Amino acid sequence: MSENGREPKYKRVLLKLSGEALAGERGFGIEPSVVDRLTDEIRSIAAMGVSLGVVIGGGNIVRGSLASRQGMDRVQADYMGMLATVINALAVQDLLEAKGVETRVMTAIRMEQIAEPYIRRRALRHMEKGMVVLFAGGTGNPYFSTDTAAVLRAIEMESDVVIKATKVRGVFSSDPKLDPGARFLPTITFQEVVAQELGVMDAAAVSLCKENGLPIIVLNLEERGAVAAAIRGERVGTLVS
Ligand code: UDP
Repeated sequence: MSENGREPKYKRVLLKLSGEALAGERGFGIEPSVVDRLTDEIRSIAAMGVSLGVVIGGGNIVRGSLASRQGMDRVQADYMGMLATVINALAVQDLLEAKGVETRVMTAIRMEQIAEPYIRRRALRHMEKGMVVLFAGGTGNPYFSTDTAAVLRAIEMESDVVIKATKVRGVFSSDPKLDPGARFLPTITFQEVVAQELGVMDAAAVSLCKENGLPIIVLNLEERGAVAAAIRGERVGTLVS
């Protein structure tokens, strides 16, 4: 039962946060005040009684494709990106625990002194016990993104929805920064996302959702309470299904 007495529409949720969500105005690194706000949001979602997994990106520290364009070996750069997601997950875990939210970080690449290795059945057990599970290290493979990792973990955890928290209200018919005529789309199908090449998530992530019938909600993390409202089933952001 939720705090306001209403059953949430989605019982198990995978929240995808980009690394940038931790960086604030600087766009780089970790801004403590931003992580403070973010973890308040996560705590209130956990308090709704939903079972919650979180995948955090690493783009605020390293983005593999960019580093490889600057001359690094791509695979090496991608491993650095995956490690960046672990740094972010540890920062979020620290503040969540300080706020009394029980968490586990599970990594796709083993580093047992720091966090548990990802084992699906163990992750399910943590979730059943009401812990917030932070999935770090992406998929553990180069050439993938944390969007794909989020969808993969969402499917493995039998989640009801994957929520992609961004800096915009949802999906638009074209880029609202470039096109003043861009229309906001409250709902859209997977086919339309693929056919119109709308930048919801990368193609691998969208096709995994489509094949597995996993809906995506794209919403603005900067709107306070938006994630909780979406979980209650209110119309927030764009629903892709
Ligand atoms: N990455 C990877 N495999 C994965 C997930 C991530 O190689 O399964 C690397 C990749 O280099 C990526 C970086 O980690 O650029 C950070 O992840 P992402 O760009 O998805 O983070 P976000 O944009 O969400 O902050």
